[in-house]
Amino acid sequence: MKVLDLQCPHGHRFEGWFASAEDFESQLSRKLVACPICSATEVSRLPSAPRLNLSGASESQAPAGAENRQARVLRALREVLEKTENVGDRFAEEARRIHYNEAPARNIRGVTTPEDAKALVEEGIEVMPLPAPAALKEPLQ
Ligand SMILES: [Zn+2]
Repeated sequence: MKVLDLQCPHGHRFEGWFASAEDFESQLSRKLVACPICSATEVSRLPSAPRLNLSGASESQAPAGAENRQARVLRALREVLEKTENVGDRFAEEARRIHYNEAPARNIRGVTTPEDAKALVEEGIEVMPLPAPAALKEPLQ
């Protein structure tokens, strides 16, 4: 798992979670990476992007301050989780219903296939990749 520092053409900085740098490039080329503030998909990766490996496999190589960063990232992600409704594998269906005003507007999260995510984006529905680390599968306190 990699956390990349990203920036849109309007200068908004945000973090994206990806399986790998290649995963990021792949999602970027399919316009699946969008600025959470203005939805721009011309996203660039900031050169100073620190890397975070939550599996702990390369923990010994983690730069100083990585622990604080990890805590900060987890807190931010928890906040997202608390403010969104988990619709699980009904994500694509629910996102469409909201988009076409068939369901109450709200922030949802869930799982979807890359194909479904691409289809949603092509329909003009905003999708933000947010792979949750295993740690967040624990119940929220
Ligand atoms: Zn932006």
